[in-house]
Amino acid sequence: MATPSELGVNPKLPTWDGDWRTYADFRLACLLEKDGLKEEDQLTLAPRLARNLTGKAWEACTDIDRAELRKKEGLDYLLKYLKEKRGKQQVDILGEAFEKYFQSGDAIRQDRECLTDFEQRVSVHFRDIARALQEMGTSVEVPSEIYGWFLLNKHIRLEPSDVATLKSQTASYKLADVWKAYMAVEEYEDEDGDGAGVWWTDPEDDGALEPEDEEATEIWFEEALEALQENPSDEVVLANFNEAKKAFYKDARKALDQSRVNRGFYPNTKGKGKGKSKGNSSRAKGDDAKVEFRGKCMRCGRFGHKAQNCPQGGKGRGPGKGIGVGLVYTNWTDDEAQPLLTGAVTEHNTRAIVDCGASESIVGALTLQRLHSELEGLGFDPDQEIELDNRLRKTFVFGNNESSQALGHATVTAGIHGREQKLGMHVVEGQTPLLLSGKWLYEQKAIIDFGRGQAIFPFLGPEVIQLERAATYHLLMPVTAFEGHDKARALTAVAQDAAGPLLRACAQMFDAKEEAVAQE
Ligand SMILES: [Zn+2]
Repeated sequence: MATPSELGVNPKLPTWDGDWRTYADFRLACLLEKDGLKEEDQLTLAPRLARNLTGKAWEACTDIDRAELRKKEGLDYLLKYLKEKRGKQQVDILGEAFEKYFQSGDAIRQDRECLTDFEQRVSVHFRDIARALQEMGTSVEVPSEIYGWFLLNKHIRLEPSDVATLKSQTASYKLADVWKAYMAVEEYEDEDGDGAGVWWTDPEDDGALEPEDEEATEIWFEEALEALQENPSDEVVLANFNEAKKAFYKDARKALDQSRVNRGFYPNTKGKGKGKSKGNSSRAKGDDAKVEFRGKCMRCGRFGHKAQNCPQGGKGRGPGKGIGVGLVYTNWTDDEAQPLLTGAVTEHNTRAIVDCGASESIVGALTLQRLHSELEGLGFDPDQEIELDNRLRKTFVFGNNESSQALGHATVTAGIHGREQKLGMHVVEGQTPLLLSGKWLYEQKAIIDFGRGQAIFPFLGPEVIQLERAATYHLLMPVTAFEGHDKARALTAVAQDAAGPLLRACAQMFDAKEEAVAQE
């Protein structure tokens, strides 16, 4: 049976794949959707929601009563229908959630996984267990000591001696205490530089690139692409393509590194640490310095001032500390950044730079503060939508060989082509634009045609999106393209000329290359 995901899910409507851990969210989204509709439109909502189900949920719809769906209580019928199906499936969600956290190994920190990612990944398990308990109608919570003990003894994967150190620094087995101790140990190791950041530098990158390997990867990539064109919906083929693509770009990257082509996004380090708190506020003085600011500073996280007026400016740890991570960015200067990121003076739609060369997403505090204002202008509570965590301070090495420590880590609610998404990013000094990392692209399973500036983000929808291009050839992705924000939405128009869309462009690219080789 063809699933709606093959036919195309409507990204504007709630969708659900039958995973009971997310049912409560789906249900709420449906009810809100209904609340937002005019009465005459409510009648068609339930059929459209049913049409938008995927996976197991869609499969469960075989004997759904279409006439019932079209009635006034259609939505209630749909939700009840799905809930009843669940009884038949007899899903043990609590057992599943327990098993995933305690037994499956999913909650173990992976090689080279950074602590932020690990924390986020693990907290999903806690949430799933809490939800499963809720679903069962109990108000009991799992004591956080249980999570803390498992984290410390089973999931962190440290040498026994390090675990002992950590234990001695943990006030209790409470989860929050264990995290605190863990982060303190990590930060200490960062500064120490030895063994620090092991999980985010890639030891393979040091090896010389064998030309044969490079060629083999390219052949693999081409074959995988061909296979994908023949079987675009086969998951195995897609997985193989993704692996091949990863290897292909990694090789290409190694080759770049070897020829010492220096790509580097430079942080705004001019005058760093020298009277910055005085010198940097010239822009703010004109307009909003004297007006009381009722929001958070995106630099230090405190309430009541903007990053450009931050009293802590320049007091932070200067460049040169720590060994840092092997992070390389493309050149970027403020001159280029300005017109792109601010647009008209009164209105701007923040665009991120799609940068497959950046290993982590980063953003300058001033850029983040502008995004903060923009979110506020759009009617959000920006302090809710931007979570700043100043405990997580990674050290970065930039293309100019300067290292600097991030001010913190931000989790931002972004609107990407009409869909809300949480973006994690490290906050650095200055007005470095928001760089969306290669890792983000990888997680999105993005397929990008840089030549045409077109992209497919399978999680956002099946369409080919047209991206804007900066004068520096970078592709830009608006991050406030929320549903209903038409101006920002228009920036990622669906590509009209994409008949056979991106994959054909890929094929053409390879054909052209073969021709060029033949001509030589
Ligand atoms: Zn501040």
